[in-house]
Amino acid sequence: MLEITDTNKFGKVTAAALAKVELTVTDAQNKKRWVNAIAKGVVEIEANGAFMTYDEKDNYLVIWSQKSNEVYSANGVCQCKAFGRGMACWHRAAARLVRLYLELPENKKPAFAAQKETKEIPYLPNTREPVRVEKYGSVRLPVYN
Ligand SMILES: [Zn+2]
Repeated sequence: MLEITDTNKFGKVTAAALAKVELTVTDAQNKKRWVNAIAKGVVEIEANGAFMTYDEKDNYLVIWSQKSNEVYSANGVCQCKAFGRGMACWHRAAARLVRLYLELPENKKPAFAAQKETKEIPYLPNTREPVRVEKYGSVRLPVYN
């Protein structure tokens, strides 16, 4: 299940991707294919995000295509016919859009931020004596006044 929570930011990522194609793809035919692939990728993410999932560890988008009933895992490569013919495909375009969107600093998993903060907090020595020890399940915790 892939859900784009901030469609405004996703729109900006899409605009940046289109601008990059405009600036870096010189072949007119290839440029047109990538622009179409990006547009189709956006539509598919919005309509069929329920049939997609993003693997953040290995950076690829798993797509269960509702049209072909095939499962594609796309990042720089894909298993579809278009990729087999060396052409742009919406699977790769969508994978790149999702990756760029998830890499926005505000979309990083809170776990990363929490981990970093915890490391910076020094352990303070305990200078107080507990009044008693209470047991919570299998954990014994000191109780202070
Ligand atoms: Zn593909």
